[in-house]
Amino acid sequence: MLGGGSSINGMAYVRGHPDDYDDWASSGAPGWGWENMLPCFKSMEDHELGETDARGAGGPLHISRRRRSGSLSEALIQAGISAGLSYCEDLNAFDGERIGYFPATIQHGRRVSAARAFLAPASGRPNLTVLTDTLVTRIVFDGTRAVGVTCGTNGGDRRFHAAREVLLCAGALQSPKILQISGIGPASHLCSLGVPVVHDSPGVGSNLRDHWGMWMQYRVLRRTSLARLCRSAGLPGRGLRYLIRRTGIWMGTGAEIGAFVKAGRDARRPDASLQFSPFSIMPGTVDSEWEPRLHCGTQLLRPESHGSVMIRSPDPMVPPEVRADFLSSENDRRRIVDIVRYARRLLRQPPLGPYLGEEISPGVAVETDEAIIDLCRRSGATGAHYAGTCKMGQDRMAVLDEELRVRGVSGLRVVDGSVMPTLVSANTNGPIMAIAWRAADLILERG
Ligand SMILES: Cc1cc2nc3c(=O)[nH]c(=O)nc-3n(C[C@H](O)[C@H](O)[C@H](O)COP(=O)(O)OP(=O)(O)OC[C@H]3O[C@@H](n4cnc5c(N)ncnc54)[C@H](O)[C@@H]3O)c2cc1C
Repeated sequence: MLGGGSSINGMAYVRGHPDDYDDWASSGAPGWGWENMLPCFKSMEDHELGETDARGAGGPLHISRRRRSGSLSEALIQAGISAGLSYCEDLNAFDGERIGYFPATIQHGRRVSAARAFLAPASGRPNLTVLTDTLVTRIVFDGTRAVGVTCGTNGGDRRFHAAREVLLCAGALQSPKILQISGIGPASHLCSLGVPVVHDSPGVGSNLRDHWGMWMQYRVLRRTSLARLCRSAGLPGRGLRYLIRRTGIWMGTGAEIGAFVKAGRDARRPDASLQFSPFSIMPGTVDSEWEPRLHCGTQLLRPESHGSVMIRSPDPMVPPEVRADFLSSENDRRRIVDIVRYARRLLRQPPLGPYLGEEISPGVAVETDEAIIDLCRRSGATGAHYAGTCKMGQDRMAVLDEELRVRGVSGLRVVDGSVMPTLVSANTNGPIMAIAWRAADLILERG
């Protein structure tokens, strides 16, 4: 499959808070503040609601919005308003506490992946060749200059020469692995595995961030949950309707409604997101449940806790060791309690009274701070928003400079979620596409 995470994700399109990017700029990545990033977002967007100061139109990435939904979703929006949130037609157009339908990377009922938005239009270029079933195994160096890559293919190992530079875009779990296997990483760790060191870079693989949180589920009292629609006799008709008209229950974001809220008392900008779906997922699986339920995913937007990705072997076929270390920070533990309590308060607002039954998960018995933290630690959920493992910046742990060039070598950049110094307050697909857009500008401007 081409397009990486953008081809399998939930298609919610959100960008984060301007201060997230200004924090990057002030912490050692000048050129990555909101004044630099907003033009990238606007240039790549083709927003259905049209161009404003806050969003773009005419770009390659189509963004649509949901026009109609069920009464449960409408009641959720009203519950958010009654809890003090502002309703937003475009969740990206306002930075405060807000609720609304997720903007979506969907066009005419079909997913707009990175491959569809950016690669397909370039597919006719004579200087582009796409190889599938090909695994990059190592970056090849001539001294400290990256001069190409080696790959495993169905036809055997191959080596490719880079006339100008190598761009590593394997994502926050794989890019640090490829760097380490190629000799760029913490020297002591590489030496212990017999990997020849090209450059001692202690930060490669550190600073792994993700949006960890708790999944909450409520029983739905009315016949409004998607679970009912999925098992009703009308299911084949709905499938046909999607195939012919690309409408109906099959075309939508994984989570339908998003809320960005200040759950912590000291929060100066939204520190939590709540993502609501009118169906639920069986715990520990990705399968939807048949019982009518509401799912509320909670996420800590700017976690302090961070983990690592470290190779266990010089063999490229051996997966790295990923240590998430979620909730290792005292602040994060305190905030996860605040978030769960906030979600409970919102879901008990009067507009949802006729719709929601009991809380099934975590369940009212999970009430004390300790019980919430313990459950979240044992059965919390990843946001699959991995970032930070090759961060840009200027401190000792920064792997990249502010033009995404790997420090200590030449001819090599990293362009993916791993470059983020800290996580943005949003799902990461859009922000990573904007990072790639900015990287392309930098490469074209300065070569
Ligand atoms: C299930 C799921 C749901 C999500 N939902 C949302 C959502 O609704 N909204 C949102 O904004 N974000 C969402 N995300 C997150 C978002 O999709 C990712 O953060 C984003 O796509 C990551 O982009 P990336 O370029 O950093 O890495 P990736 O998309 O992982 O791209 C890395 C690419 O490199 C390839 N690769 C890796 N190693 C090698 C190698 N050795 N050789 C060759 N190729 C290699 C991979 O196959 C992949 O194609 C979701 C993620 C997941 C997994």
